[in-house]
Amino acid sequence: MRGTRKQVSRFRTKRYRLFAVAVLAAAICGFTALQLWGGSLLGNSGLSEAAAAALETPAPTASASAEPTMPPEVTPEPSAPAPSPSPEATSSPEAPTVAPEKPVVTPEKPAATPVTPTPSPDKATSSGKDKRKLVALTFDDGPDGKYTPQVLDILKKRGVKATFFLVGPQVNKYPKVAKRILDEGHSIGNHTWSHKDVSKLTAKQVADQIDKTQQAIVDATGFTPELMRAPYGSISDTLLDALHERDMLHVYWTVDTRDWAGTPVAFMRKNVLANTRPGAIILMHSFGGRKNALENTTKLLPLIIDDLTKKGFEFVTVDEMIEAGQVHKSVVK
Ligand SMILES: [Zn+2]
Repeated sequence: MRGTRKQVSRFRTKRYRLFAVAVLAAAICGFTALQLWGGSLLGNSGLSEAAAAALETPAPTASASAEPTMPPEVTPEPSAPAPSPSPEATSSPEAPTVAPEKPVVTPEKPAATPVTPTPSPDKATSSGKDKRKLVALTFDDGPDGKYTPQVLDILKKRGVKATFFLVGPQVNKYPKVAKRILDEGHSIGNHTWSHKDVSKLTAKQVADQIDKTQQAIVDATGFTPELMRAPYGSISDTLLDALHERDMLHVYWTVDTRDWAGTPVAFMRKNVLANTRPGAIILMHSFGGRKNALENTTKLLPLIIDDLTKKGFEFVTVDEMIEAGQVHKSVVK
Protein backbone atom coordinates (compact mmCIF):
# COMPACT_ATOMS: atom_id res chain seq x y z
CA MET A 1 0.00 0.00 0.00
CA ARG A 2 2.64 2.43 1.02
CA GLY A 3 4.62 1.62 -1.96
CA THR A 4 1.62 2.19 -4.11
CA ARG A 5 0.94 5.53 -2.39
CA LYS A 6 4.51 6.56 -2.95
CA GLN A 7 4.18 5.60 -6.53
CA VAL A 8 0.95 7.53 -6.79
CA SER A 9 2.41 10.58 -5.14
CA ARG A 10 5.48 10.36 -7.37
CA PHE A 11 3.21 10.03 -10.28
CA ARG A 12 1.22 13.05 -9.08
CA THR A 13 4.39 15.07 -8.66
CA LYS A 14 5.37 14.09 -12.17
CA ARG A 15 1.96 15.12 -13.39
CA TYR A 16 2.21 18.46 -11.61
CA ARG A 17 5.60 19.02 -13.15
CA LEU A 18 4.33 18.10 -16.55
CA PHE A 19 1.36 20.36 -16.00
CA ALA A 20 3.59 23.21 -14.91
CA VAL A 21 5.80 22.75 -17.93
CA ALA A 22 2.73 22.65 -20.14
CA VAL A 23 1.35 25.82 -18.57
CA LEU A 24 4.69 27.54 -18.99
CA ALA A 25 4.95 26.39 -22.57
CA ALA A 26 1.41 27.50 -23.25
CA ALA A 27 2.16 30.88 -21.70
CA ILE A 28 5.25 31.32 -23.87
CA CYS A 29 3.42 30.17 -26.97
CA GLY A 30 0.51 32.42 -26.20
CA PHE A 31 2.77 35.38 -25.73
CA THR A 32 4.60 34.64 -28.93
CA ALA A 33 1.30 34.22 -30.72
CA LEU A 34 0.14 37.52 -29.32
CA GLN A 35 3.34 39.13 -30.45
CA LEU A 36 2.99 37.64 -33.89
CA TRP A 37 -0.60 38.70 -34.09
CA GLY A 38 0.23 42.21 -33.01
CA GLY A 39 3.11 42.28 -35.41
CA SER A 40 0.98 41.16 -38.25
CA LEU A 41 -1.53 43.82 -37.34
CA LEU A 42 1.15 46.43 -37.52
CA GLY A 43 2.39 44.85 -40.68
CA ASN A 44 -1.07 45.02 -42.11
CA SER A 45 -1.50 48.65 -41.37
CA GLY A 46 1.86 49.29 -43.02
CA LEU A 47 0.74 47.32 -46.00
CA SER A 48 -2.50 49.11 -46.32
CA GLU A 49 -0.63 52.40 -46.51
CA ALA A 50 1.50 50.99 -49.24
CA ALA A 51 -1.59 49.66 -50.93
CA ALA A 52 -3.22 53.05 -50.64
CA ALA A 53 -0.15 54.61 -52.13
CA ALA A 54 -0.20 52.06 -54.89
CA LEU A 55 -3.84 52.79 -55.52
CA GLU A 56 -3.11 56.45 -55.88
CA THR A 57 -0.79 55.71 -58.71
CA PRO A 58 -2.06 53.64 -61.58
CA ALA A 59 -4.06 50.46 -61.17
CA PRO A 60 -7.50 51.47 -62.29
CA THR A 61 -8.69 48.21 -60.83
CA ALA A 62 -12.25 47.77 -59.71
CA SER A 63 -11.39 48.32 -56.06
CA ALA A 64 -9.43 51.46 -56.75
CA SER A 65 -12.51 53.22 -57.95
CA ALA A 66 -14.19 52.72 -54.61
CA GLU A 67 -12.01 55.41 -53.05
CA PRO A 68 -14.47 58.14 -52.18
CA THR A 69 -11.85 60.55 -50.93
CA MET A 70 -10.18 61.09 -54.23
CA PRO A 71 -11.09 64.11 -56.30
CA PRO A 72 -13.70 63.23 -58.83
CA GLU A 73 -12.57 65.60 -61.51
CA VAL A 74 -9.73 64.96 -63.84
CA THR A 75 -6.84 67.29 -63.51
CA PRO A 76 -4.20 67.10 -66.14
CA GLU A 77 -0.55 67.27 -65.28
CA PRO A 78 0.48 70.02 -62.95
CA SER A 79 3.97 69.48 -64.27
CA ALA A 80 2.82 70.48 -67.70
CA PRO A 81 4.57 73.55 -68.88
CA ALA A 82 1.92 75.84 -67.52
CA PRO A 83 0.79 77.20 -70.80
CA SER A 84 3.13 80.06 -70.82
CA PRO A 85 3.30 82.63 -73.47
CA SER A 86 6.11 80.72 -75.03
CA PRO A 87 6.85 81.00 -78.69
CA GLU A 88 4.90 78.31 -80.38
CA ALA A 89 5.99 79.58 -83.72
CA THR A 90 8.47 82.23 -84.45
CA SER A 91 7.86 82.87 -88.07
CA SER A 92 4.72 84.41 -89.37
CA PRO A 93 2.62 82.07 -91.42
CA GLU A 94 3.16 84.23 -94.44
CA ALA A 95 6.89 83.64 -94.32
CA PRO A 96 7.10 80.23 -92.79
CA THR A 97 10.41 79.04 -94.09
CA VAL A 98 12.48 81.84 -92.69
CA ALA A 99 14.84 80.52 -90.06
CA PRO A 100 15.66 83.40 -87.78
CA GLU A 101 17.84 82.93 -84.78
CA LYS A 102 19.27 79.74 -83.34
CA PRO A 103 16.68 77.54 -81.72
CA VAL A 104 16.37 77.69 -77.98
CA VAL A 105 16.26 73.92 -78.02
CA THR A 106 19.26 72.58 -79.85
CA PRO A 107 17.64 69.86 -81.88
CA GLU A 108 20.88 67.99 -82.44
CA LYS A 109 21.56 67.74 -78.73
CA PRO A 110 18.48 66.95 -76.76
CA ALA A 111 20.77 67.71 -73.84
CA ALA A 112 19.30 66.27 -70.72
CA THR A 113 16.64 63.67 -71.11
CA PRO A 114 13.42 65.40 -71.90
CA VAL A 115 11.61 65.37 -68.63
CA THR A 116 12.16 62.11 -66.80
CA PRO A 117 9.06 60.07 -67.49
CA THR A 118 7.09 60.53 -64.33
CA PRO A 119 4.63 57.71 -63.85
CA SER A 120 1.13 57.85 -62.51
CA PRO A 121 -0.44 58.85 -65.78
CA ASP A 122 -3.68 57.28 -64.72
CA LYS A 123 -3.90 59.06 -61.42
CA ALA A 124 -6.68 61.32 -62.55
CA THR A 125 -8.84 58.60 -63.96
CA SER A 126 -8.58 56.02 -61.22
CA SER A 127 -11.27 57.73 -59.21
CA GLY A 128 -13.58 59.64 -61.48
CA LYS A 129 -16.81 58.43 -62.84
CA ASP A 130 -15.55 58.98 -66.34
CA LYS A 131 -12.70 56.60 -66.95
CA ARG A 132 -11.96 57.73 -70.48
CA LYS A 133 -8.39 58.80 -70.99
CA LEU A 134 -8.80 61.64 -73.42
CA VAL A 135 -6.09 63.44 -75.35
CA ALA A 136 -6.41 66.15 -77.99
CA LEU A 137 -3.94 66.63 -80.81
CA THR A 138 -3.83 70.21 -82.06
CA PHE A 139 -2.19 71.64 -85.15
CA ASP A 140 -1.58 75.38 -85.54
CA ASP A 141 -0.84 77.81 -88.37
CA GLY A 142 -2.41 75.92 -91.29
CA PRO A 143 -3.90 75.10 -93.57
CA ASP A 144 -1.32 74.70 -96.30
CA GLY A 145 -0.96 72.59 -99.41
CA LYS A 146 1.74 70.26 -98.09
CA TYR A 147 1.85 69.36 -94.42
CA THR A 148 -1.81 69.82 -93.56
CA PRO A 149 -2.87 67.22 -96.16
CA GLN A 150 -0.14 64.87 -94.92
CA VAL A 151 -1.31 65.26 -91.35
CA LEU A 152 -4.90 64.66 -92.46
CA ASP A 153 -3.86 61.49 -94.29
CA ILE A 154 -2.17 60.12 -91.18
CA LEU A 155 -5.13 60.97 -88.97
CA LYS A 156 -7.56 59.43 -91.45
CA LYS A 157 -5.58 56.21 -91.71
CA ARG A 158 -5.65 55.81 -87.94
CA GLY A 159 -9.18 57.05 -87.43
CA VAL A 160 -8.03 59.84 -85.12
CA LYS A 161 -9.75 63.21 -84.70
CA ALA A 162 -7.83 66.40 -84.03
CA THR A 163 -8.23 70.17 -83.82
CA PHE A 164 -6.71 72.67 -86.26
CA PHE A 165 -6.19 76.30 -85.29
CA LEU A 166 -6.18 78.11 -88.58
CA VAL A 167 -4.80 81.44 -89.71
CA GLY A 168 -7.10 83.61 -91.87
CA PRO A 169 -4.97 84.21 -94.97
CA GLN A 170 -4.01 80.53 -95.13
CA VAL A 171 -7.68 79.60 -95.11
CA ASN A 172 -8.27 81.99 -97.99
CA LYS A 173 -5.34 80.45 -99.82
CA TYR A 174 -6.28 76.82 -99.16
CA PRO A 175 -10.05 76.77 -98.68
CA LYS A 176 -10.33 73.18 -99.89
CA VAL A 177 -7.88 71.95 -97.31
CA ALA A 178 -9.81 73.86 -94.66
CA LYS A 179 -12.99 72.19 -95.85
CA ARG A 180 -11.33 68.80 -95.86
CA ILE A 181 -10.38 69.26 -92.18
CA LEU A 182 -14.02 69.70 -91.30
CA ASP A 183 -15.32 67.03 -93.68
CA GLU A 184 -13.06 64.44 -92.08
CA GLY A 185 -14.51 65.03 -88.65
CA HIS A 186 -11.90 67.31 -87.14
CA SER A 187 -12.53 70.58 -85.40
CA ILE A 188 -11.37 74.03 -86.42
CA GLY A 189 -10.31 76.90 -84.21
CA ASN A 190 -9.33 80.51 -84.92
CA HIS A 191 -5.61 81.37 -84.79
CA THR A 192 -5.93 85.06 -85.78
CA TRP A 193 -5.37 86.77 -89.07
CA SER A 194 -1.76 87.89 -89.01
CA HIS A 195 -0.31 85.66 -86.30
CA LYS A 196 0.68 88.60 -84.13
CA ASP A 197 1.07 88.81 -80.39
CA VAL A 198 -2.52 89.85 -79.84
CA SER A 199 -1.88 90.84 -76.23
CA LYS A 200 -0.28 93.98 -77.62
CA LEU A 201 -3.19 94.98 -79.80
CA THR A 202 -6.06 97.35 -79.11
CA ALA A 203 -9.60 96.09 -78.63
CA LYS A 204 -10.47 97.09 -82.18
CA GLN A 205 -7.43 95.33 -83.62
CA VAL A 206 -8.14 92.21 -81.57
CA ALA A 207 -11.73 92.18 -82.81
CA ASP A 208 -10.48 92.46 -86.39
CA GLN A 209 -8.05 89.58 -85.93
CA ILE A 210 -10.82 87.35 -84.66
CA ASP A 211 -13.63 88.42 -86.96
CA LYS A 212 -11.73 88.39 -90.24
CA THR A 213 -10.48 84.89 -89.52
CA GLN A 214 -13.90 83.69 -88.40
CA GLN A 215 -15.29 84.98 -91.68
CA ALA A 216 -12.59 83.27 -93.74
CA ILE A 217 -13.31 79.97 -92.00
CA VAL A 218 -17.06 80.33 -92.42
CA ASP A 219 -16.59 81.16 -96.11
CA ALA A 220 -14.38 78.13 -96.70
CA THR A 221 -16.15 75.56 -94.56
CA GLY A 222 -19.52 76.88 -93.39
CA PHE A 223 -18.35 76.28 -89.83
CA THR A 224 -18.12 78.97 -87.17
CA PRO A 225 -15.33 78.19 -84.70
CA GLU A 226 -16.01 78.46 -81.00
CA LEU A 227 -12.40 77.99 -80.04
CA MET A 228 -9.43 80.29 -80.46
CA ARG A 229 -5.76 79.99 -79.73
CA ALA A 230 -3.62 83.11 -79.57
CA PRO A 231 -0.27 82.94 -81.33
CA TYR A 232 2.45 82.18 -78.76
CA GLY A 233 -0.34 81.58 -76.26
CA SER A 234 -0.11 85.29 -75.57
CA ILE A 235 -3.45 86.44 -74.23
CA SER A 236 -4.85 89.58 -72.60
CA ASP A 237 -8.05 90.56 -70.86
CA THR A 238 -8.95 92.45 -74.02
CA LEU A 239 -8.67 89.25 -76.02
CA LEU A 240 -10.64 87.19 -73.51
CA ASP A 241 -13.37 89.83 -73.37
CA ALA A 242 -13.60 89.84 -77.15
CA LEU A 243 -13.78 86.04 -77.22
CA HIS A 244 -16.38 85.77 -74.50
CA GLU A 245 -18.53 88.38 -76.23
CA ARG A 246 -18.54 86.00 -79.17
CA ASP A 247 -19.19 82.91 -77.05
CA MET A 248 -15.70 81.67 -77.81
CA LEU A 249 -13.05 80.14 -75.56
CA HIS A 250 -9.30 80.45 -75.61
CA VAL A 251 -7.43 77.13 -75.67
CA TYR A 252 -3.86 76.66 -74.47
CA TRP A 253 -1.96 73.40 -74.60
CA THR A 254 -0.42 71.15 -71.96
CA VAL A 255 2.31 69.48 -74.02
CA ASP A 256 4.45 71.54 -76.36
CA THR A 257 6.31 69.44 -78.91
CA ARG A 258 8.27 72.45 -80.23
CA ASP A 259 7.99 70.80 -83.59
CA TRP A 260 8.27 74.16 -85.35
CA ALA A 261 11.90 74.34 -84.21
CA GLY A 262 12.91 71.11 -85.90
CA THR A 263 13.07 69.20 -82.63
CA PRO A 264 14.21 65.60 -83.28
CA VAL A 265 11.48 63.00 -83.53
CA ALA A 266 12.83 60.83 -80.71
CA PHE A 267 13.01 63.82 -78.38
CA MET A 268 9.45 64.91 -79.14
CA ARG A 269 8.16 61.38 -78.81
CA LYS A 270 9.71 60.96 -75.38
CA ASN A 271 8.38 64.33 -74.28
CA VAL A 272 4.84 63.48 -75.42
CA LEU A 273 4.90 60.07 -73.78
CA ALA A 274 6.24 61.43 -70.51
CA ASN A 275 3.86 64.36 -70.23
CA THR A 276 0.56 63.20 -71.66
CA ARG A 277 -2.02 62.72 -68.93
CA PRO A 278 -5.77 62.42 -69.34
CA GLY A 279 -7.02 65.78 -70.52
CA ALA A 280 -3.78 66.64 -72.30
CA ILE A 281 -3.72 68.98 -75.27
CA ILE A 282 -0.70 68.45 -77.47
CA LEU A 283 0.62 71.34 -79.55
CA MET A 284 1.96 70.71 -83.03
CA HIS A 285 1.91 72.57 -86.34
CA SER A 286 0.68 71.80 -89.81
CA PHE A 287 2.36 74.79 -91.41
CA GLY A 288 5.23 77.18 -90.72
CA GLY A 289 8.21 76.75 -88.47
CA ARG A 290 11.82 76.41 -89.48
CA LYS A 291 12.79 75.01 -92.82
CA ASN A 292 11.62 71.39 -93.15
CA ALA A 293 10.91 71.27 -89.42
CA LEU A 294 7.48 69.82 -89.99
CA GLU A 295 8.95 66.79 -91.72
CA ASN A 296 9.55 65.65 -88.17
CA THR A 297 5.95 66.37 -87.25
CA THR A 298 4.67 63.98 -89.88
CA LYS A 299 7.15 61.35 -88.71
CA LEU A 300 6.23 61.90 -85.08
CA LEU A 301 2.48 61.79 -85.54
CA PRO A 302 1.96 58.07 -86.29
CA LEU A 303 4.40 57.16 -83.52
CA ILE A 304 2.66 59.09 -80.78
CA ILE A 305 -0.76 57.98 -81.97
CA ASP A 306 0.38 54.37 -81.58
CA ASP A 307 2.18 55.05 -78.27
CA LEU A 308 -0.78 56.77 -76.68
CA THR A 309 -3.29 54.28 -78.05
CA LYS A 310 -1.28 51.52 -76.39
CA LYS A 311 -1.48 53.45 -73.12
CA GLY A 312 -5.25 53.51 -73.41
CA PHE A 313 -5.72 57.07 -74.61
CA GLU A 314 -8.61 58.09 -76.80
CA PHE A 315 -8.15 60.90 -79.28
CA VAL A 316 -10.80 63.58 -79.33
CA THR A 317 -11.20 67.13 -80.57
CA VAL A 318 -10.79 69.90 -78.03
CA ASP A 319 -14.53 70.56 -78.27
CA GLU A 320 -15.26 66.95 -77.30
CA MET A 321 -12.81 67.13 -74.45
CA ILE A 322 -14.50 70.25 -73.09
CA GLU A 323 -17.89 68.57 -73.39
CA ALA A 324 -16.58 65.55 -71.51
CA GLY A 325 -15.48 67.89 -68.73
CA GLN A 326 -11.91 66.64 -68.95
CA VAL A 327 -10.16 69.88 -69.76
CA HIS A 328 -8.16 71.51 -67.02
CA LYS A 329 -9.70 74.84 -66.17
CA SER A 330 -6.45 76.72 -66.59
CA VAL A 331 -6.10 75.43 -70.13
CA VAL A 332 -9.36 76.76 -71.46
CA LYS A 333 -10.37 80.31 -70.69
ZN1 LIG B 1 0.81 79.77 -84.36
